[in-house]
Amino acid sequence: MEKRIAVLPGDGIGPEVTQEAVHLIQTVDGLFGHHTEFAYGKIGGIAIDEEGTPLPQATVELASSSDAVLLGAVGGPKWDKGQGNMRPEAGLLGLRKSLAVYANLRPITVFDSLAHASTLKPEVVKGVDFVILRELTGGLYFGQPRGRREGDQGLEVLDTLLYSEVEIEAILRLGFETARKRNKRLTSVDKANVLESSRLWREVAERLSADYPDVELSHVLVDNAAMQIVKNPAQFDVLVTENMFGDILSDEAAMITGSIGLLPSASLSQQGPGLYEPVHGSAPDIAGKGLANPLATFLSTAMMYRYSLNLPDEAKAIELAVTTVLQSGARTADLALPGESTYSTRQMGDAVRDALKRGVQQ
Ligand code: NAD
Repeated sequence: MEKRIAVLPGDGIGPEVTQEAVHLIQTVDGLFGHHTEFAYGKIGGIAIDEEGTPLPQATVELASSSDAVLLGAVGGPKWDKGQGNMRPEAGLLGLRKSLAVYANLRPITVFDSLAHASTLKPEVVKGVDFVILRELTGGLYFGQPRGRREGDQGLEVLDTLLYSEVEIEAILRLGFETARKRNKRLTSVDKANVLESSRLWREVAERLSADYPDVELSHVLVDNAAMQIVKNPAQFDVLVTENMFGDILSDEAAMITGSIGLLPSASLSQQGPGLYEPVHGSAPDIAGKGLANPLATFLSTAMMYRYSLNLPDEAKAIELAVTTVLQSGARTADLALPGESTYSTRQMGDAVRDALKRGVQQ
């Protein structure tokens, strides 16, 4: 199979982790008989320095004409004082907008061999494996009108929580489809006891569930969801929710896995390429030192195979290789316990690629 992947390394550790992922994709190519073309583009701080903008038009064009986009991370102290559109993050927001990604998928997986690294007790996090699906383009973060105004009693502020039924249906349908590919349990998170938007959300979820009789639908209020994620996170399969609830719950859930270096994400559009990136930032404190953990980017690459390239076997092979390497005791510095020996970024990359070859050739 011939595919074109846009690679946007960005800043800090972004180039280090994406470089390892490119080698990983080349290994997958060799093992499964594919051919991948890589198209490199600039984004974030490096694009500000070299092109005068965090998102050059050339990057937008190569991203939107590719089958999928693999991104490292953007930002760093050098650009912290930039104003408005001259900040690295503006490049990322602009890219998400230009790709029209409307859904963010974050798997929350606790590897058995790392259960001790969680802030929760190992027996609570054992077997945790769920996905949070967050609506990305609507709700309180984008609704109009918004702003400040003078009221009868002084200053007033206003934000608007607006959703169309079409937007709600799109994300919920993706929730059902995602659950169907997993353990067929969908938990819809809302605040239907208070919010009108949540009441429509719940109605649409109920209506769609008739199309997915094989998926078990349940509803949980967002405050209860926040409690359940720390009380019994192993109960979930797929959680689907609106933009702001998802923003908060996905960061809460991320922390129970124990390391930011292990968290992948995918942002999906209705038709165009998906955007795949680790959840972590550019980690300027360790950039250029060979200390970065590439596993979040590897797991994002696995998601790319599953969701954009429709190659689930390749996705599973990568995930299995990561699990095998962690079980073998290999640790980058962020995962190691005091006194444990550590792997560099390249050594971890090599270990996963070797495990991938062994797993596929068996
Ligand atoms: P960060 O995620 O970059 O780093 C937080 C801590 O986690 C640091 O100690 C870092 O060394 C460690 N860490 C992160 N990723 C790691 C990895 N793969 N391996 C080992 N250790 C890792 O968050 P921050 O320090 O708040 O932000 C640094 C910069 O990144 C800022 O400019 C911020 O705006 C930007 N940022 C970008 C994104 C993105 O590109 N999506 C996301 C978050 C932050």
